[in-house]
Amino acid sequence: MNSFVDIPAMVAACRAACGMVHLVGAGPGDPELLTLRAARLLAHADAVVYDHLVGPEVLALIGRDTERIYVGKERSRHSMAQQDINLLLVRLAREGKQVVRLKGGDPFVFGRGGEELQVLAAHGVAFEVVPGVTAACGVASYAGIPLTHHDYAQSCTFVTGHLKDGSCNLDWPLLVRPRQTVVIYMGLSGLPDICAQLVAHGLPAHWPAAVVSQGTLAEQRVVCATLATLAAEVAREGLQSPCLTIVGEVVRLRDELAWFRGQPGTEPAVAEFAAVQA
Ligand code: SAH
Repeated sequence: MNSFVDIPAMVAACRAACGMVHLVGAGPGDPELLTLRAARLLAHADAVVYDHLVGPEVLALIGRDTERIYVGKERSRHSMAQQDINLLLVRLAREGKQVVRLKGGDPFVFGRGGEELQVLAAHGVAFEVVPGVTAACGVASYAGIPLTHHDYAQSCTFVTGHLKDGSCNLDWPLLVRPRQTVVIYMGLSGLPDICAQLVAHGLPAHWPAAVVSQGTLAEQRVVCATLATLAAEVAREGLQSPCLTIVGEVVRLRDELAWFRGQPGTEPAVAEFAAVQA
């Protein structure tokens, strides 16, 4: 009798029998921007754990028998604490489920995806990452604002404008460097402060800047102005969140390049794709 125990094979067999977590990016809104892998996983997962930024059209792609668990994470309205979300993912995977952890945009860009995976790794839960179109890329594309351009910007910086104790603690000298585009995630409540700081640190008051609200969706709205006027314009227009701020000379290109007329997801129809997957 062969007493040899093939440990790697046992581990592989055990993993196959166990559940795992698929950390999936849902893109910025338009369901047509999902990856094929994301759409397939949504159709076949046992459970989908999702945040508030994931819209109804993406959720429509979830399989009929799949368990849906909303965990919120809206600003100042966290419906589940981060620690509880982590433990939920561990528990579902240990029940042998294929779990999709669905996040807006890309899970590794201001999405706490890394933090959640660290907990899974510490508990020995298997996982994979499916990237998504991050808001900066998706929203800028649909707003007709190229993030880099040979004549205006050779680099692009993504920052989060999240306020800490009522003030922004961003690296202002970095953000005012020439020939770059700055994209600010989560910046709406701090917008007046951010614009003022950029000017105080050296950008001209007439520097182009834009806010895109509900980008890539039919409700998308874009306000283009200058650092001096943007906050007031945005307040006047009453833009709805989520909003992304883009600062730099590339904003001017929107005059020439705006193409999106608020009709995402028409060709090929998402419903057709879902039917093919079913
Ligand atoms: N992981 C996400 C970002 C999460 S932070 C990603 O990669 O996109 C949430 C912030 O993203 C929002 O506050 C907003 O600034 C931005 N955002 C996400 N979707 C957006 C959309 N459709 N339109 C405008 N901004 C968006």
